[in-house]
Amino acid sequence: MMRKTVLSALTLSLGLSACTTSPLGRSQLSLFDSSEIDQQGQKAFEEYRQSHKQATGRDGQYVSCIANAIIDTLPEGQGPSKWTVGVYQDDEPNAFALPGGYVVINTGLMSVAKNQDQIATVVGHEMAHVLANHANERTSTQSLTSTGLGVVQSVTGNNMLAQLLGAGAQYGVLLPYSRRQESEADLLGLDLMARAGFDPKASIALWQNMASAAGGGKPPEWASTHPNDGERSKALEGRMQSAVKLSEQAHAAGHTPSCGSINS
Ligand SMILES: [Zn+2]
Repeated sequence: MMRKTVLSALTLSLGLSACTTSPLGRSQLSLFDSSEIDQQGQKAFEEYRQSHKQATGRDGQYVSCIANAIIDTLPEGQGPSKWTVGVYQDDEPNAFALPGGYVVINTGLMSVAKNQDQIATVVGHEMAHVLANHANERTSTQSLTSTGLGVVQSVTGNNMLAQLLGAGAQYGVLLPYSRRQESEADLLGLDLMARAGFDPKASIALWQNMASAAGGGKPPEWASTHPNDGERSKALEGRMQSAVKLSEQAHAAGHTPSCGSINS
């Protein structure tokens, strides 16, 4: 079943077209059924959950409040029907998203993101990866460039998709996103948090905090393929005016999120 999907998808890519368009208008290669990709995301999340403790106290409520404000103002018809956003015990200042609508924020991020607008920056960024179908694109690109058509055709079923997704290794975190996808998630995420009424200017400070948290040591895993601090700030500045406008419109429409502060 899966094999057929993969083969027909590959045939499509060779003969016709397997292109989709990202929310920011970028053309993407999408070879896989989104339902298959979402299923792998769900599976990886279940594995992750079994080996990590969820923070159910103040941190969890705080992040839920922020995530819900963003979810409530997502463009209509976009994204999964249900999002699962949680805080999990891990000291590394990190976060990740899985297809199907799973967003994990590490407890270690809570001391790096200083207020609700900075947390909203991270949540928006991660949701943007999901909304822009980055996992499907990354997996599709990988299946054509590095695995090669011959190998793809000789490996069967879910096993292949799981391998391509990088599931199975640790708790199944995906292939790292590309630099281009990270930049796109920054900008799309900025729109998402601004549309919910958060302060988009907080994004610059957040990414600076992240860079300092990385210090001279090994950068957080998720930051290693992210744009460097300078590029990132510049790209965000370029979109800031329109993001501020989105945020003002949100306020005028009554979206003024007030999730408290981290230590309250
Ligand atoms: Zn990212």
